[in-house]
Order: sequence, then C-alpha cells, then structure tokens
Amino acid sequence: MGLVVQKYGGSSVADAESIKRVARRIVDTRSLGNDVVVVVSAMGDTTDDLRDLAQQVSPLPPARELDMLLTAGERISMALLAMAIADLGHQARSYTGSQAGVITDSAHGKARIIDITPGRIRQALDGGAVAIVAGFQGVSQDTKEITTLGRGASDTTAVALAAALGADVCEIYTDVDGVFTADPRIVPTARRIAQITTEEMLEMAANGTKVLHLRCVEYARRYAMPVHVRSSFSRHEGTWVIDSKDGQVMEQAIITGVSHDRSEAKITVVGVPDRPGKAAEIFQAVAGAGINIDMIVQNVSAAETGRTDVSFTLPKTDGPIAMTTLQNVQDAVGFASLQYDDLIGKISLVGAGMRTHPGVSATFFAALAQAGVNIEMISTSEIRISVVTRADAVDAAVRGVHTAFGLDSADEAVVYGGTGR
Ligand code: ADP
Ligand code: ASP
Ligand code: MG
Repeated sequence: MGLVVQKYGGSSVADAESIKRVARRIVDTRSLGNDVVVVVSAMGDTTDDLRDLAQQVSPLPPARELDMLLTAGERISMALLAMAIADLGHQARSYTGSQAGVITDSAHGKARIIDITPGRIRQALDGGAVAIVAGFQGVSQDTKEITTLGRGASDTTAVALAAALGADVCEIYTDVDGVFTADPRIVPTARRIAQITTEEMLEMAANGTKVLHLRCVEYARRYAMPVHVRSSFSRHEGTWVIDSKDGQVMEQAIITGVSHDRSEAKITVVGVPDRPGKAAEIFQAVAGAGINIDMIVQNVSAAETGRTDVSFTLPKTDGPIAMTTLQNVQDAVGFASLQYDDLIGKISLVGAGMRTHPGVSATFFAALAQAGVNIEMISTSEIRISVVTRADAVDAAVRGVHTAFGLDSADEAVVYGGTGR
C-alpha cells in the first residue's frame, strides 16, 4: 500500500483501445491497495497536429492562444481515461493542470512550475478515486493565464506532483522498455540500462534523450524521488533512475550511452570585430530574448581584417526570435552578417566513468571518422563529449559510436508504438 504516480505518454493512449488498456493497468495498481494519481499526455501526435493547425491559421500565433489550444489535447485524453476507468467499476476524476494546483510563472510555451497545491487531488484520493491530471500544463500565478511547460513536459508534471504529494514512486510509462544505451529507433541493438544515476540521466536528457524530460530528472534529483521508466505495452522491468548518492549503484560503466538531438539550429555571426566586449554584447542580446544557447565556437580571427566569426547552437523553436534580436543589434555590435542553419544534428557520448578513463575521446573521434561523419563543432563536460554534424549524418554517427564502445546487445530493443515524432 502506498501512493503511486503514473505517467502515460501520448503513444500509450493513442486510441480508444490503448486508453482501455491503460485504464486496466491503472485499476490493477489500485486493486493492490495503492492510491493512484495518473498524469496523462495528449493522444498520439495530437500536440503536433494542433501546432500544425495553428500554423495554418497564423505563422506566428499569439503565445497565450497557442497554450490555450495545446492544453486541449490533454483535456481529451484525461476525460476519456477517467471514463474508461469508471467503466471498469472504479472511481476516477480528471483535473486540468490549473485544477490540480500546478502553479507556474507566466512564460507561455516554457513555463516553470513554481508551486503545487494539490488540495483537490488529495480530496479525490481521500474519496477513494483515482485522480487523473492533464500533463504539461498549469496556471500562471501572476497573470492567471493557462500555460504550458514545454514539449515533453508531462514527465515533469508527474515527478513534480509525486514530490508534492510525497509519493513512494513516480512511474513513467512509455513506448519502449526503459532507458537504453541509444534511441532504439536508431539502434535496434541498444541495451536496456537497468539502473541509471540522476547525474547520467540529466546529461542524456539534456542532450536529446527524450524518453525523459530534462526538468523531470532535475526534480527527481532535488526531491530524491525514485523514477521508474517502463513500457505501458509490456510487463518488463524497465529502468530505475536513482540518486548516485544512494550508494546503490554498482561500479559504474565507463560509458552510459549515446544521445542525439535534431532539435537545434546553428547561428553564425559573421565578421565580429575582434575586441573585448563583443561576445558579451552578442550573448547579452540573445539572453535578453529569453533564449538558452548550447554550444559556442569562435574562429581564429583573420589578422588582416581584425574580425572573427562566432557560431552558437540554440533550440530551432527559438531561431526566428534570435535572428530578429541579433539583426536589431547589428549596427551597435558592428558585425557583417548572420547565417542560419537548421540542418544540423548533435551526437553526445555520456558516461560518468569518462572522468577517470583516458582515450575515450580518441575512440569517439575514430568511430566518427570511420562512419564518414564530418564534425562541425565540439564541446565537452566532465562526463560528456558532444559534436555537431549535418542532420543526415546523425544515424550513422550514433550507430558507429555505439558499436565502437561495445554497447551493442544481442537482443533487439522493441519499440511498441508511437511515430517517433
Ligand atoms: P512519450 O510519448 O511516452 O512521452 P517520448 O516519445 O517522449 O514518449 O519518449 C519515448 C521515445 O524516446 C522512444 O520511443 C525513443 O524513440 C526515444 N528515445 C530516445 N533516446 C532513447 C533512449 N536512450 N532510450 C529509450 N528511448 C529513447
Ligand atoms: N503533449 C505534450 C507534448 O507532446 C506533452 C507531453 O507529451 O509530455 O509535448
Ligand atoms: Mg515524452
């Protein structure tokens, strides 16, 4: 007996049959005597479809209205799931993020949770019902507007709610059997990781491993909430994300896995005067627009012109606003022009054991060379090496690196559903 928070992703509730299957799984957990809170995503690719629809009406829809539209997706799935549970003879009540007490700041499209006041969820549980909460949405404390937390953020709703309710575990149900050493859609021989530390999972999630949303891992670490990633289509054991401080981790492997990311773009600021303060002016402007940048590279300046090029990567979704922002400071900064490239991909090798093992970079670059992959940018952290390449080189790069580090398994990783969109 305990309190379990379960999150079901879009591919797990893609159609009526799937919703009924998930309802049975929830009822099984409830029947064991647990209190159950469910966080649900929109059905299948609904969120993408709603975004496409908005684009057809307006190329740059007002952020408030886009959030209003996107949150409708989770309303549909939560109500249907509650109906399916009721049909199995159990009580269930669905709640929007706002009703569930998910309080956020006012940044539409990327709001952050600032508080959770789950009074109504507690009441539902006390009344013997399963509480179903719409993922990835909340209400702004200041503006009282409906907000969304960013793509894939239902995971974050789940872990944040689990922490606020003092749940025993947060289970993330998806369309693969856990966290693998690479995306099973690209590497069928990827190996399931039975236990991964929050440190390694943070690094993978931050570098494109979308099976878990980055901020959900941050929450799990901050509140020491055990997260169990598993498939809603099978009964396999899945992956436990645990705190490295728990001391439960056996000796860590040198390499955890290979992440990839096709969601970034690269901006090159051409002909920047090579003087102190110019980089600061560029990045202050970008930061002022609320944009998080990732990698930065500055070329060696040409002696005859005294100018240099600065390139950086950022989320594609922030591309248009970054370009407009930089155009506005072109005269003040004194650079020559801007280039925008959204056909890039990023491949990252992650592993806590890298800290103490020499030769990891050498093997990594040799694997990329053998796969015929040209490298455009490089960045490293203590436990990661990342490169930027052409987007169409990503699959070959991921496979080559995965094999070079001996991560291939004899078993085939199963992808049960979803379109991978
Ligand atoms: P959900 O709709 O359940 O939230 P997501 O599409 O957000 O599911 O995340 C699951 C997907 O993450 C998988 O289908 C898989 O393609 C992708 N993925 C990428 N990297 C990994 C990895 N290392 N391990 C497992 N899945 C991964
Ligand atoms: N439905 C939202 C999305 O597609 C949130 C989520 O699935 O986590 O991004
Ligand atoms: Mg997801």
